[in-house]
Amino acid sequence: MKAHDGMYIDGEWRPAAGADAIAVVNPADEQVIGHVPAGTAEDVDAAVRAARRAFPAWAATPPAERAARIATLRDVLVARKDEIAETVTAELGSPLKFSQAVHVGMPIAVAGSYAELAASYAFEEKVGNSTVYLEPVGVVGAITPWNYPLHQIVAKVAPALAAGCTVVLKPAEDTPLTAQLFAEAVHEAGLPAGVFNLVTGLGPVAGQALAAHDDVDLVSFTGSTAVGRQIGATAGAAVKRVALELGGKSANVILPSADLARAVNVGVANVMSNSGQTCSAWTRMLVHRSQYDEAVALATEAAAKYGERIGPVVSAKQQQRVRGYIEKGIAEGARLVAGGPEVTREQGYFVSPTVLADVTPEMTVAQEEIFGPVLSILRYEDEEDALRIANGTVYGLAGAVWAGEEGEAVAFARRLDTGQVDINGGRFNPRAPFGGYKQSGVGRELGSHGLAEYLQTKSLQF
Ligand code: NAP
Ligand code: MG
Repeated sequence: MKAHDGMYIDGEWRPAAGADAIAVVNPADEQVIGHVPAGTAEDVDAAVRAARRAFPAWAATPPAERAARIATLRDVLVARKDEIAETVTAELGSPLKFSQAVHVGMPIAVAGSYAELAASYAFEEKVGNSTVYLEPVGVVGAITPWNYPLHQIVAKVAPALAAGCTVVLKPAEDTPLTAQLFAEAVHEAGLPAGVFNLVTGLGPVAGQALAAHDDVDLVSFTGSTAVGRQIGATAGAAVKRVALELGGKSANVILPSADLARAVNVGVANVMSNSGQTCSAWTRMLVHRSQYDEAVALATEAAAKYGERIGPVVSAKQQQRVRGYIEKGIAEGARLVAGGPEVTREQGYFVSPTVLADVTPEMTVAQEEIFGPVLSILRYEDEEDALRIANGTVYGLAGAVWAGEEGEAVAFARRLDTGQVDINGGRFNPRAPFGGYKQSGVGRELGSHGLAEYLQTKSLQF
């Protein structure tokens, strides 16, 4: 796709207020593939004004009509799926097959789910002598990360539109081309001018201006805990709604009765997928001491298979960061059994699929989000010990439990302080609420719970 030299505001591509640009780099070969404008507070303000003007009419549009627009938007994404996949691969570096299946497939499913939900959702309910109306919150400021460039956008924009909100999006600086493609799709789908607006730019400039804008009613942010904390504080000071989808350090708990080989293989695949750049990745594998050596051997073998298949991480900065964590893990006493911190390719921001064994709960690699293809394997003594370790981080986004009987896994999962748990390899459900306990965030995305985030309630008494 060809980069736009402008912002998508009020239904058209407009020149940016400033002259600065962001170079977009292909992480697989380090080549610059395009430039997008670096937005300023002025661009953000123009976009928020457009969203504000468009809000009353969009909020008053019957849900069935909003649903039809979202369905058309989904159809445009389907029609342009090859171009989207190629764009994601070019700016994120993920293998094309993965881009097609996941980076394109998932947002299409989510957009489809909101086309249906907008049409079927009960925006009005009776409570005794009251009628309760669920009304759109207003103008949404959406700030998204690069790890799933289109999914992160659709997971915010589709429910916001379904609710009757209007949106200003500030996508990640590393993956702005996918965001521009999405804006093209919105345009093609015939959404009214100003309902969706795009300002590309840097986090501390454009993102900060959007999060702090007086006329934004809700800030929906996905990204690092450090930035999320700051956005939450800014929103709190302005008594503004905020949704935060932050980091994770999820546990993959393999109980002794589980099918060990399957649990380990699926667990390794889960971490290596998208080069480990998934906030809900099961980066800590917890194995009973009686099966520990066998699990480490299986994981080592499984990780080796990803050597040639894995894509790079998104940037030189992330590559440095991930390699630094691997070094720190080794320095703190972990045993390297696969991969390692060395750069093995001349070009591209690659990190070898890495497995660290003998990781103990207090180690940095067991506590902090690495966001790379790095799996830590921890040993537990008994079920209570496994639970303590699993719950022993500041995060609580996702997790997995494996056991011979589903009931045993469910009983354990209910004791995990986390927002989502896959039982014996349960499939991803694009309609299930996604979001964190503890410092993994505030609020939920996807499905009807995700839609509810963009609604506020008004009750009329009779
Ligand atoms: P990040 O800085 O939190 O970026 C997320 C989004 O927030 C981007 O659009 C970013 O813009 C923007 N942003 C940055 N500073 C901001 C500010 N002061 N005010 C408003 N918006 C701001 O995350 P990152 O730098 O991409 O990645 C760092 C780490 O965050 C990763 O290593 C990983 O641990 C974690 N992470 C988590 C998720 C997740 O899904 N939970 C996703 C990505 C990253 P820029 O693109 O210009 O920075
Ligand atoms: Mg950043």
